[in-house]
Amino acid sequence: MKLTKEQFTEDFLRQLQQRFALSVEDSSNYELYMSLGALTRAYYSAEWKSNTEVLKKDKNKQAYYFSIEFLPGKMLKSNLLSLGILETVKSGLKDLSLNLDEIAKAEPDMALGNGGLGRLASCFMDALASSNFPGNGNGIRYNYGLFKQKFVDGYQVELPDSWLKGGNVWEVRKENKAVNVGFSGQVYMVDDGLGNLKPHYENQQILRAIPYDTPMLGFENDVTNVMRLWTVEIPVTEEGNYLTVEKRRAVEDITAVLYPDDSNYEGRLLRLKQEYFFVSAGLQSIHNYFLSLGLPLSQFPNHVAIHINDTHPALCVPELMRLLLDVDGLSWEKAWDITVKTMSYTNHTIMQEALEKWPTQMVYDLLPRLCQIIQEIDRRFVAEKTPQVGPSLVHRTRILQNDHVHMANLAIIGSHSTNGVAKLHSDLLKNVVLHDFYLLYPERFNNKTNGIAIRRWSQLANEQMSQVLDETIGRSWRKNIDDLVLLKAYQDDPAVWEKLATAKRANKERLSQFIMETKGIEVSPAAIFDVQIKRLHAYKRQLMNLLHILKLYIDLKENPAKKMIPRVFIFGAKAAPSYDYAKTIIKCINEVADLINGDKSISGQIKVVFLENYNVSLAELIIPAADVSEQISLATKEASGTSNMKLMLNGAITVATLDGANVEIRDAVGSENIFIFGLDEQEVYGYYKRRDYNAKKIYDEDPIIQKVLNSFIDGTIPNIQREGREIYESLLTYNDEYFVLRDFAAYCSAQEKISQHYADRDVWQKMSLLNIANASQFSADKTVTRYAEDIWQIDPIF
Ligand SMILES: *Cc1c(COP(=O)(O)O)cnc(C)c1O
Repeated sequence: MKLTKEQFTEDFLRQLQQRFALSVEDSSNYELYMSLGALTRAYYSAEWKSNTEVLKKDKNKQAYYFSIEFLPGKMLKSNLLSLGILETVKSGLKDLSLNLDEIAKAEPDMALGNGGLGRLASCFMDALASSNFPGNGNGIRYNYGLFKQKFVDGYQVELPDSWLKGGNVWEVRKENKAVNVGFSGQVYMVDDGLGNLKPHYENQQILRAIPYDTPMLGFENDVTNVMRLWTVEIPVTEEGNYLTVEKRRAVEDITAVLYPDDSNYEGRLLRLKQEYFFVSAGLQSIHNYFLSLGLPLSQFPNHVAIHINDTHPALCVPELMRLLLDVDGLSWEKAWDITVKTMSYTNHTIMQEALEKWPTQMVYDLLPRLCQIIQEIDRRFVAEKTPQVGPSLVHRTRILQNDHVHMANLAIIGSHSTNGVAKLHSDLLKNVVLHDFYLLYPERFNNKTNGIAIRRWSQLANEQMSQVLDETIGRSWRKNIDDLVLLKAYQDDPAVWEKLATAKRANKERLSQFIMETKGIEVSPAAIFDVQIKRLHAYKRQLMNLLHILKLYIDLKENPAKKMIPRVFIFGAKAAPSYDYAKTIIKCINEVADLINGDKSISGQIKVVFLENYNVSLAELIIPAADVSEQISLATKEASGTSNMKLMLNGAITVATLDGANVEIRDAVGSENIFIFGLDEQEVYGYYKRRDYNAKKIYDEDPIIQKVLNSFIDGTIPNIQREGREIYESLLTYNDEYFVLRDFAAYCSAQEKISQHYADRDVWQKMSLLNIANASQFSADKTVTRYAEDIWQIDPIF
């Protein structure tokens, strides 16, 4: 949009006055933020309205991304960037002696997600709009997002995230789009007198689902898609009015809190309620919208694509069947054909503990009609496939097994596309994890490597680097991310290296200051900033990072004259509140940090900083300052990873196993510009097959590992009596489930190489530059374009 600075300041002052009756001088950051947010909303409201009208008129096919998590972070600056008025607003505010970055801090992070899964959904929202696709989100408006993390005596403490407390400027409540969602009771099929069986419900609990719409703006293209999040309310009926406080609370619980479990399945009833709630509400609203277009139902898949992001929304399959059968009166065959053509599914993990399986009885009690439909899908699947492929393959792939509903099976059988999120992961799905399904439906399997919202992770998060890019290759990369490759032409240009190094240094200074303010730890921006930021999970192996830190520390203690290139190890990670082992690792990292940071004898050559409350905003601060990106999961365990892409884009060099998208990052930058180490997929499966992994043997044969592990139980690290023992036992007594000890030596040599390369500034800067230049292939714009073409069959419009 076009906006002059003068117009903006006039609008802004009026907004402030109308909203809060305040002058600039008397306003708090929060009031300034709310006013600026409201003004921003006003700037895009006309586009939003016209987008909605165009879509309705042209009846374009739209995609709906169903996800139980979205993790957008803050939206003010990203909306201003999309509108093309970020600079204008910044300088207009400056004229009023205000600072946009300070004001933006008042916005709470919208943290309705745990980590990678939710962040991917939000990167996709951004990319869909920015690539002109009509694609919308559908999810839950949790009153409380992911807990806020604090450390007390080195332990993680979880505090509630009441992000809605001060109001949310971006959302719009859509009262007239509310729908009813039914739970429990009994259902009978009754003849409607015309020979059709219709469900008759008794004792059903009816809840009201109210949508809140948040526009998702495209970058400088006037596109506004919608992220629709649902909240539960008790319908205004006489009965509802007399609900006891307890019953009221039980209802409100459905959209009260995000489950804080990442890559872990929680088989609790409330979670199943959440899943059905947003699935049913979302599908009903899509169904209503489709009916309003006045098209025949057979056209449904030509106007609607529904995406099941991980298995949490897999009930989309039976719920759409229910609408088509019970509401529209279609035959099973027609309804099934439409459903399969409409649905697609992304698998995000191969880890057993993350695969959802609901007890059939629980599903029956909560969702009797859906359960009938699931049973019928299963029955027909068995009847159709058994003659074709035999009973044993059918037995392994059917939805109902051992009195449980297998959600991944439901999603695969009920959709036309199943994709993994990186090449390696998709191959594992085809060849190992979902091989049986691959035999049944080879044409349904495909890969869509994840991507990131490049603009947020460069233009917003890293202004310093973005300016260097502008000066070097022009500004076109800001819109056409492919133009980042133009930087390759400067890979041997010392002047460009120098500028990039200066930008990095400024970002490191900014982070150092933040570390001083929040942790009271002094770190030198001249040190290597070595960063591991992601959920705390055993498979991600933060523990291996910690063991390496201890090795360096022990080295320095034993050789006081030794000089190393100083390193600052930076961690950011939340553990699921019920995940004891992950919390133990947090405690140990914190105690090692205290030990090392307080040890004057090593002259500050190592510092360890565990920043609290890792979230999108913190990621935006840390990533631009990173030199080294730790992507060290055990091969085959990390489906893709996306922080690996963000860090690469910001010029960090990756130290990585050949896992997830690290493989593609290596292919993109070349082996000489990344540090790969450790077991590969084949070797890991080799151990599984032979069952001959022996951690104790590795320990017995490696004196360094002995020293490092002993430090957990011999008092070297203070205050971890219990935790140190737990770590020690997990590695030796319980045979090191994630092969940390097996990869440790290779990891240490990779780290040594990193230090050597860093010592040669030119070598390092060139590597860093090539990482930036090759990052564009991980743009979510590209990823969603592939989804749009291969899976959803939606076209760019507007
Ligand atoms: C990108 C991102 C993640 C995902 O990180 P991985 O290392 O890929 O697991 C998690 N949390 C936040 C806040 C992120 O920005």
